[in-house]
Amino acid sequence: MNVYDVAVVGGGPAGSSAASSCAEAGLKTLLLEKRSVLFWKEKPCSGIVSEETVRLIGIPKGMLRGRIEEVVLISPRNHRYRFLLEPQWLVLDRKRFDLWNLDRAKAAGAEVLTGANVVSLKKGNNGRRTIVLADRRAFSAFVLVLCMGARSTLLDHRIHRWRDNEMLICAQSTIDKAFRFGEDLFCIHFGGKIAPGGYAWLISTGTVSIVGLGVTLTHRKRLIDLFHSFVKRTIKVDKIDLKVQTALIPISLRESYGEGYLITGDCAGMTDPIFGGGLLYAIRSGIYAAKVTNASVRNRDNSEGMMRDYYDFCWTNFCSYLTNRRKLRTSIYKSDQDIEAFVNNTKQFGLFYVS
Ligand SMILES: Cc1cc2nc3c(=O)[nH]c(=O)nc-3n(C[C@H](O)[C@H](O)[C@H](O)COP(=O)(O)OP(=O)(O)OC[C@H]3O[C@@H](n4cnc5c(N)ncnc54)[C@H](O)[C@@H]3O)c2cc1C
Repeated sequence: MNVYDVAVVGGGPAGSSAASSCAEAGLKTLLLEKRSVLFWKEKPCSGIVSEETVRLIGIPKGMLRGRIEEVVLISPRNHRYRFLLEPQWLVLDRKRFDLWNLDRAKAAGAEVLTGANVVSLKKGNNGRRTIVLADRRAFSAFVLVLCMGARSTLLDHRIHRWRDNEMLICAQSTIDKAFRFGEDLFCIHFGGKIAPGGYAWLISTGTVSIVGLGVTLTHRKRLIDLFHSFVKRTIKVDKIDLKVQTALIPISLRESYGEGYLITGDCAGMTDPIFGGGLLYAIRSGIYAAKVTNASVRNRDNSEGMMRDYYDFCWTNFCSYLTNRRKLRTSIYKSDQDIEAFVNNTKQFGLFYVS
């Protein structure tokens, strides 16, 4: 059996970032991703990020689809609030970004296996973990960094515990054409009848438009109907050949560590409960996980107490902030009064920029 210091499961933004940082720190690192590069299925994601995210891991300009200068927030009762974005937001081409990030892990020295579907994680001897793939190959690692996203089947027990109001189910389409909603290139509708318990968005950057809608799991059965009504309403086209993809966004934090393992990004519910943005937190948690893994390997200590440092890092740097946002979310989606208060407190709550 091949033996590693660390095995990272999942090659999304969190996993590739964790594997890059582990390999850069000199750890013998394995990254396992179930998608194969040749048939890479793009994750439905609008790719909106802050400049901070781009700087954090030096994302090249070639990965960007465009920039966004302003956003219009539309309240459940249809009141509009327009904001200039300072600094501007950027839009990533998610497929190119994911593949670039995977290559970055490889270049840093991680062994990257794609088409590698992990089906079982077991506790082995000497505090090590055994990882088994669908094709029965097995590996051993001192630390596991779990980055399988919101839809993980490996952590099924945990996913089944998501309550209906802790997860959004989203439908999204990317259209090779620039649409506007009135004069606007980027708008987000909160709640109301358009997106019960969630939000709907339209972004136009250059020649591409992204339209999406997310609702809490309570409304899952109406998702596609609501999505098509939103498309009809915003871009005023009856029939477009839309390729609709669906995906989950967790809006509540979950367990993030235990003896011999750390959980990052969407898998640990690290997303913004108001806008669903998770790329920054996925990358950051991946980098923090690598720091703690490095200390764990060097000290030959993968106890729960050691792994808790990761939880503390994340809590101080962004999880406490995300917890406050969750409290705020409940009120914003219900009334205009609250959205006004939220908008007035923009700076206080770091609506547009998390430094
Ligand atoms: C519709 C939609 C729009 C979004 N828009 C934005 C946005 O504009 N801005 C933003 O910041 N965030 C956005 N997000 C959120 C963002 O996409 C996620 O927060 C981000 O992808 C989380 O990264 P991750 O690495 O944690 O998980 P993922 O990106 O889900 O990656 C998980 C990886 O693990 C792999 N994997 C899973 N199980 C296994 C297994 N058993 N074995 C091996 N590999 C496995 C998967 O194939 C995948 O590559 C959006 C999400 C959705 C659904």
